[in-house]
Amino acid sequence: MKMYYDKDVDIEAIAKKTIAVIGYGSQGMGQSQNMSDSGIKIIVGLREGGSSLQKAKDDGMNVKTIEEAAKVADIIHILLPDEIQADVYEKSIAPYVESGNTISFSHGYNILFKYIKPPEGVNITMIAPKGPGSMVRRTYLEGFGIPGLFAVEEDATGDAKDIALAMGKACGLSRAGILETTFREETETDLFGEQAILCGGVTELINAGFSTLVEAGYQPEIAYFETCHELKLIVDLIYEKGFAGMWNDVSNTAEFGGLSRRHRIINDEAKDEMKKILREIQRGKFAKEWTLESIAKMPMLNRMRTLESEKKIEQVGSKLRKACGLEKKDE
Ligand code: NDP
Ligand code: MG
Repeated sequence: MKMYYDKDVDIEAIAKKTIAVIGYGSQGMGQSQNMSDSGIKIIVGLREGGSSLQKAKDDGMNVKTIEEAAKVADIIHILLPDEIQADVYEKSIAPYVESGNTISFSHGYNILFKYIKPPEGVNITMIAPKGPGSMVRRTYLEGFGIPGLFAVEEDATGDAKDIALAMGKACGLSRAGILETTFREETETDLFGEQAILCGGVTELINAGFSTLVEAGYQPEIAYFETCHELKLIVDLIYEKGFAGMWNDVSNTAEFGGLSRRHRIINDEAKDEMKKILREIQRGKFAKEWTLESIAKMPMLNRMRTLESEKKIEQVGSKLRKACGLEKKDE
């Protein structure tokens, strides 16, 4: 494993280039502000009439239309929602892509599944912070950064790797360390992680635990504290000190109970289902489903969003977080 730190990366590869950052959402905002503060020439490309246009202007960014930004840039860094990228690329970026340019991403999705096919003679690179844009920005301002990944899918100019790494340095990522990956590995592991563990797995684990306690007659507020609130404290321990550090900090009772029972929750059946989810990702089945959903204007996602907001744990949690000052009252 080679980790690239500040001392290993020369920002020279992008010092004389213009980078068009397309999109000013979570990643667009964090990355373009960091790269700009690192002395890189940044143009933010946005559609007219969208809500982020004013925000980017208020932040003092040099804002142009997506077409204009793509036209003048050497590097086009696409930071739009994944399901939107192919459409915007086709209409507003592709006509202006020139030989020797670099098309850059923070997630390999559209390249791996071939929704975007840049022409020959163009670099295809990735620099992906391992965290949300707000954290990319906050840690940069604090003088540090969050770790990141980089990948090169196409090296047309011979210095695509230097360009990707230099962008990572300008974003502050090489202060923490940047690892090399491929578009396939980043995309497949990222999708698997968010579906099986980080976003999907964890919420359903909490849900199941919460409703088990409530159905057994315990107070919902107590159930919430036990199955949701305390999770952060445990995850923070694992984040900082690994499993061993966590086991060391909880009681012996918790350690014995947890170690002797956990495989009954995440059992062979659960593991088989994880493998199925991974295969669906690898074979492009998930991407196909998500594309159809997006073309149909998200009927399933909207339905699931409604159901999620109606869950008892959400109502109990919202009241409790306010009562304990964990969530601001006006949010
Ligand atoms: P966001 O959803 O925050 O992007 C919002 C931006 O996209 C806004 O500027 C918005 O402009 C613009 N946009 C949305 N729809 C359109 C459209 N139809 N036409 C033109 N512009 C549009 O994206 P993220 O920052 O979350 O993700 C960007 C990339 O980074 C993705 O590839 C993602 O996978 C990756 N990534 C994201 C991470 C995260 O934590 N969020 C972490 C690591 C990688 P407007 O205001 O005009 O709507
Ligand atoms: Mg991810």
